[in-house]
Amino acid sequence: MAFEIVTQAIEQRKQQQLFRQRRCQFSAQGRWIEFDRQRYLNFSSNDYLGLSHHPSVIEAWIKGARDFGVGSGGSPLVSGFQRPHYQLELQLCEWQGREGALLFNSGFSANQGLIKALLTKHDVLLQDKLNHASLMEAGVQSEASFKRFKHNSVQHLEQHLVNASNANRLVITEGVFSMDGDQAPLSPISQLCKQHDSWLMVDDAHGVGCLGDQGRGSIEHAHLPVNDVQIHMLTFGKALGVSGATILCNQELKDYLVNFDKSYVYSTAMPAAQACAISAAIEVVKNEPQFQAQLLANITFFKKQALELGITLGGSDTAIQPILLGSSERALAISQQLQQRGYWVSAIRPPTVPSNTARLRITLSSHHQQQDISQLLSVLAELLSNKI
Ligand SMILES: *Cc1c(COP(=O)(O)O)cnc(C)c1O
Repeated sequence: MAFEIVTQAIEQRKQQQLFRQRRCQFSAQGRWIEFDRQRYLNFSSNDYLGLSHHPSVIEAWIKGARDFGVGSGGSPLVSGFQRPHYQLELQLCEWQGREGALLFNSGFSANQGLIKALLTKHDVLLQDKLNHASLMEAGVQSEASFKRFKHNSVQHLEQHLVNASNANRLVITEGVFSMDGDQAPLSPISQLCKQHDSWLMVDDAHGVGCLGDQGRGSIEHAHLPVNDVQIHMLTFGKALGVSGATILCNQELKDYLVNFDKSYVYSTAMPAAQACAISAAIEVVKNEPQFQAQLLANITFFKKQALELGITLGGSDTAIQPILLGSSERALAISQQLQQRGYWVSAIRPPTVPSNTARLRITLSSHHQQQDISQLLSVLAELLSNKI
């Protein structure tokens, strides 16, 4: 017996120029990235504040490992819930103004577990059509009736809410969209949800650390009362520079998830040392606002320079700045030409993004210097003017 899908799917991906391969990197995340002894300026990292190599975050991880070992030894309900996990939960609740915080090994598993645990066949799940694969896939697999609304369309969302007025409804949007960098209109969405007695969840993988006066994310940025958003999902692998995720919610939902969320119950708890590093990263976000300020300055500079060079950007005010190119071939070709000139910018192709919307996804970080950005943009302007 053979699984033909393996051969066929690989063949098809190659024909469509969509076959993906990993490149093994030989350096830490930072301003530079190194492949095959070649150094590139790194415009492809989600380490927006450079915290993956911040000394106090690294020290916290090392000390955590000395005190608690390198592994937690069990799932949280068995024996893996340790003091650093507990302290991180308390810190998160205080920082974000929530009753409950629960830790997960990844944003992917947090999203999947939540959707599957919360929604039954009587419920309705409404998601922005550009939500992350972890949310979409769980929606398809859940028993709930699952509908997508047009990207950032409050009007289309309202139609869906009206059509399902008898059911429990959960609306999910991202705070900052991962491939476009634009932001959800959270104020009108939350108003609408309130009006229609629906729950709202915000996946803030790219908002936390970057947005809001205190770096608390999209809800703070939109000046919303936290309880207008019943579920706030944060990941620690992007601006926080570590890995893992949390779901912030009320005490009752937290208790429910501890009992019924299979991603939580049946997975080994993250190492306590990792929880120590995440705690330290949150303290950096709180006490060293210069990283967030530098990131914002870099974003402003990037947009201004691009405008001057006539490079068309999307409507993003965040660290994620896509350049839409349409065809996968063109996106790949320009990404490769940038590499030859010393810049690492990834080409994002379907199915990660909708067909015919292949793009370069430039991500900015606090560690970029203005000259890095202006040089990248002038090379890019030159490459984009060549017709290929
Ligand atoms: C990265 C990402 C996730 C997944 O988080 P991981 O911790 O990397 O698994 C979930 N949602 C969005 C919007 C993301 O960008």
